[in-house]
Amino acid sequence: MLYLSTRGHPDRKRFCQILLEGLAPDGGLYLPESYPQVNAASLARMRSALKNQGYAALAHEVLSLYIDDIPADDLRALCAKTYTAEVFGTLEIVPLKKLEDGVCLEALSNGPTLAFKDMAMQLLGNLFEYELARRGEQLNILGATSGDTGSAAEYAMRGKQGVRVFMLSPHGRMSAFQQAQMFSLMDENIHNIAIEGVFDDCQDIVKNVSNDHAFKQQFKIGTVNSINWARLLAQVVYYFAGYFQSTQNDSQRVSFSVPSGNFGNVCAGHVARQMGLPIDRLIVATNENDVLDEFFRTGVYRVRGSADTFETSSPSMDISKASNFERFVFDLLGRDGARVADLFGPQLARQGRFDVSADPSFAQARTRYGFVSGKSTHANRLATIRDTFERFGVTIDPHTADGLKVAREQRVPGQTVVILETALPIKFAETMREALGRDPERPAHFDGIENLPKRVLVMPANTDQVKAFVRAHCPTP
Ligand SMILES: *Cc1c(COP(=O)(O)O)cnc(C)c1O
Repeated sequence: MLYLSTRGHPDRKRFCQILLEGLAPDGGLYLPESYPQVNAASLARMRSALKNQGYAALAHEVLSLYIDDIPADDLRALCAKTYTAEVFGTLEIVPLKKLEDGVCLEALSNGPTLAFKDMAMQLLGNLFEYELARRGEQLNILGATSGDTGSAAEYAMRGKQGVRVFMLSPHGRMSAFQQAQMFSLMDENIHNIAIEGVFDDCQDIVKNVSNDHAFKQQFKIGTVNSINWARLLAQVVYYFAGYFQSTQNDSQRVSFSVPSGNFGNVCAGHVARQMGLPIDRLIVATNENDVLDEFFRTGVYRVRGSADTFETSSPSMDISKASNFERFVFDLLGRDGARVADLFGPQLARQGRFDVSADPSFAQARTRYGFVSGKSTHANRLATIRDTFERFGVTIDPHTADGLKVAREQRVPGQTVVILETALPIKFAETMREALGRDPERPAHFDGIENLPKRVLVMPANTDQVKAFVRAHCPTP
């Protein structure tokens, strides 16, 4: 299996080569040259692997279609080590919860940080450790977070050999629970840096450091952001698991509704569907930051400025541009790398938008690729949380509520829709109190987490100071 760039670069790479890389050299994103296809026999085998041997065995089945440069036994062991009941709370790893006929939630948020990002990040941690040991190399991960990604990365990389994490977050702007989750980690390879500024300041520092190629190379700086192909691939697995759990046989079709921000999660659904998993619709649910909903309705992709990016009560979907979206557009436009390079390069830079509404392929987003979309507001979110609790006794978080609201609008009558549960309510206590008038339940092992000692350094928004800190905490190469 070889991987190519969405912007047409002639190089082809293998999985382990792109594992530790971010963007392709031409600024594009990596995708496989073609999607491996499943058929009746392989679907039956995967269904039985999940049923009889569990999620890790299914993960191995799916991953081995894309990874041919890790020996099978090693890959199997990495999957088994990652997807355990101990780390993910249940033997099923991603249990399905039925709300009513034809509507179920797939629980993806029972990992260490209570958001679905653990599903991919935990695997990434083990893959990184494996590959770095094989190469005898080290990696320093520099990241910026407003909440979920940073904590998922830290819990995935803590104690891992060969990996250090330097995570920047906006000082005083994360929820008390999120701060407690990250800052209470005492592992020596995890460094929390609270920047006196907003999330964009943190991200700018990461960009500045990455643009200093000499520094980047000397200190082996890497990232774990959502454009990493291995993260996306790990997410493909739970579409298979959701499909098998919600159907009796492989002739049935189901739809998935996905609370979306950077288009990473639903892009994994697109990959699963392109492989031949019988998915009918992929329902893209956005919050008030409706970049993606606008595209699927109109064919216009218009990135937002910071003044037009709203702070909402489903904050992990507050995006101004959808960093994984380029992968889907590449497929939609018949894998025309030159055209994608123009749209996502000069066109977006000059105009902040592009328009494919007049292109015949745009209609195929729906007809051939199954994409539909909708948006949800603060009021919708609160109403959906309340309604779900009152009718089914189930408490859902604000992001999952967006997914459920749009799922109900876009659902094909008589067909099952699986809503991906992307976080647990405890992470967003304030909104839950507004919706239900009380605090959300807290898993027992998080009791008193806010009172644990914290390990965090507060720093001005200054790239040189961050570089000096990284330098001081890495053995001189
Ligand atoms: C990251 C995140 C999302 C958005 O996922 P994308 O892959 O960026 O589309 C939705 N909900 C929660 C809780 C998240 O943490």
